[in-house]
Amino acid sequence: MRQWTLFFAAAILLLSFCSKKEVPSPVQQDVNPFFSAWTTPFETPPFDRIKEAHFLPAFKEGMTQQLKEIEIITNTAEPPSFSNTLEALERGGALLIKVSNVFFNLTSSNTNDELQKIQKEVAPLLAKHQDDIALNPKLFQRIKAVFERKAELSLAPEQSRLLEKYYKDFVRGGANLHEAKKAEFRKINEELAVLSQKFGENVLKEDNNFSLVIENEEDLAGLPQSVITGAAEAAKAKKLEGKWVFTLHKPSLIPFLQYSAKRDLREKIFKAFINRGNNNNEYDNKAVLTKIASLRVKRASLLGYKTHADFVLEENMAKKPESVTKLLDQLWTPALKTSTQEAKELQNLIGREGQDFKLEPWDWWYYAEKLKKAKYALDDEILRPYFKLENVRDGAFAVAGKLYGIRFVERTDIPKYHADVKVFEVQEADGTHIGILYTDYFPRSSKRGGAWSNTYRNQQVRDGKNITAVVSNNGNFSMPAGDRPSLLTFEEATTLFHEFGHALHDLLSKCTYESITGTNVPRDFVELPSQIMENWASDPEAIKTYAKHYQTGEPIPQELVDKIKKSDLFNQGFATAEYLAASYLDMNWHTLTDASEQDALSFENAAMKKIGLIPEIVVRYRSPYFSHIFSGGYSAGYYSYIWSEVLDADAFQAFKETSLFDQKTAQSFRDNILARGYTEDPMTLYKRFRGREPRVEPLLKRRGFIQ
Ligand SMILES: [Zn+2]
Repeated sequence: MRQWTLFFAAAILLLSFCSKKEVPSPVQQDVNPFFSAWTTPFETPPFDRIKEAHFLPAFKEGMTQQLKEIEIITNTAEPPSFSNTLEALERGGALLIKVSNVFFNLTSSNTNDELQKIQKEVAPLLAKHQDDIALNPKLFQRIKAVFERKAELSLAPEQSRLLEKYYKDFVRGGANLHEAKKAEFRKINEELAVLSQKFGENVLKEDNNFSLVIENEEDLAGLPQSVITGAAEAAKAKKLEGKWVFTLHKPSLIPFLQYSAKRDLREKIFKAFINRGNNNNEYDNKAVLTKIASLRVKRASLLGYKTHADFVLEENMAKKPESVTKLLDQLWTPALKTSTQEAKELQNLIGREGQDFKLEPWDWWYYAEKLKKAKYALDDEILRPYFKLENVRDGAFAVAGKLYGIRFVERTDIPKYHADVKVFEVQEADGTHIGILYTDYFPRSSKRGGAWSNTYRNQQVRDGKNITAVVSNNGNFSMPAGDRPSLLTFEEATTLFHEFGHALHDLLSKCTYESITGTNVPRDFVELPSQIMENWASDPEAIKTYAKHYQTGEPIPQELVDKIKKSDLFNQGFATAEYLAASYLDMNWHTLTDASEQDALSFENAAMKKIGLIPEIVVRYRSPYFSHIFSGGYSAGYYSYIWSEVLDADAFQAFKETSLFDQKTAQSFRDNILARGYTEDPMTLYKRFRGREPRVEPLLKRRGFIQ
């Protein structure tokens, strides 16, 4: 997953106080680090000096500075040109971007009450500030004047893309609206900013609001020792020594659902999970999300779009809701068929065990795990010893080394915001500096769920000087437990490779302008560089290079590799159906043409009924905790993952047709995709790499839907 903000290309990021306790001198206390150049190695954020109190003044000053810069642009006597208008605008707002990147990284990775308070205060200010720029008529007139002369300006492709992007962003940001409508538009944006933030906060509260506390040892039936140890440690942390605690965070929840023989407890924790934001308490999200959906209908209609999805998709590779639906439908029929078949197999297994209850959603993981074991003699616990976190991470580094000739060198002299964070310098084979990568892989209550990649600084060229990227990879992976190191599930290992792919997209970027560099690309294209990396995590040839037993150092046996390969298609019906159902739900919420507020649950039920989702499967995200679409940047965009997967399956096929580390193919992928950001239309970039448009067949094959 990746997060987005619009407009200043401010990818969302984080920061914190360093773990080493140093007493600041009186001078340091007075100096706000955002107001001076950073003297840290590679000008990385000085986390040891940044305090909560520094943010608000830096945000305010950043906004003031940017407005002043814009005033200079609009007041210049010279006629509008690419350089005095577009380039000047693009180069502005440096302080605001700097503070936003640090701040939003921290509110994702290491938040606290104070940061949340600042976030609440700053969200409407930022929304208003964006609108102040987007709705500035003098600025828009200048951009429009340049845009209208585009043909005669002989701009480079990258400049031409930048001009188009700004012009469109302004039109989409309401610049062409009449004054009265502009006021209405601004009000909607401010309300949406507040509601989206509220939605995300509620989910975080609900994630932490429930825990399953086990007091009797017999209620641990079925759970592997490592899971029990982890739960005992979680209990200790909550001062519940001698008991066992399971939470709604996935590394705790999923093993419980997979292994607990206690059906009633599985039901209890599963129901808590799927009812987050739906408990009719102060954190309930139903009213919040229906209000968001309604405001989005109003905003789309103000701008002259049929629906919010039309508004969003115009800027994506998909272009129209119809192309999204077409792809979803192509996949839905085989996914539904396969998942129905899978449910039958699980029901049969229940029967074979002498039980007569009907398979329910909280039984799926448990019986799927059993069936997998029976079919392939494979379970997560057999594989974990081969996926020690450090080995997987180094494996991802090595794959990038083989493909692109780059290397990763750990640095201990760069400030960090938390003791769990590690810092790496990325270099070309000849030692040339490429950028910095932070890794932050473990869950904590101050961190949001899931895994993501973000930047503290985007690659760009300024005044002829190349500015390198500072990137962060985040996860909520299995923690070390007792004297056992962090041993990942195979799925977690794949996720690590995924986020690392996003990091490469930012690190290997060779673009001039920040707004269209690195991962600042349409969101149905952004998952191509990440998802293609997953292929190297799981490919039989690649897996042997990094999956080594954490105690003996033995490479993973061929027999297990074969089993992983064979079990690849296992449960694909479920995984695809669960995902596609969420994509349909997203499209349903965002193809509304009626702004009246819906009843969240009946709307969701109707959407699921329409596609015929079977009752044994619950949509991957129910509306009240569908953060991607109600507090992240993925509204009308959750389909992007599978859209990108069509691309990644087809692109990886290019390696399969040659060899896994084919240098020519790798160089072409680096030059035409990873280095190019959004400097040209993504389909043009893709065709330059592949020599043709992407085909859907490699994906259908990979999921086992065709032979
Ligand atoms: Zn992603």
